[in-house]
Amino acid sequence: MSATFRARYDGTCAADCDQRIDPGDEVTYLDGQLVHVGCEPVDDEPAPRPVCPICFTETALNGACAC
Ligand SMILES: [Zn+2]
Ligand SMILES: [Zn+2]
Repeated sequence: MSATFRARYDGTCAADCDQRIDPGDEVTYLDGQLVHVGCEPVDDEPAPRPVCPICFTETALNGACAC
């Protein structure tokens, strides 16, 4: 997770969002390229782990749970 900051120069959002980056916009670096905050892809969030319907704990990678 990279820090966000306010853009000091205008530029192009690397996320192809059709909005130019204006000075003062909240931006962050994504793979070394400026994007607006909110334009970062969210699909690299870890998927929620399955929850055991019996003990309601998240199952481990090997499928084990607390019961
Ligand atoms: Zn953008
Ligand atoms: Zn269980």
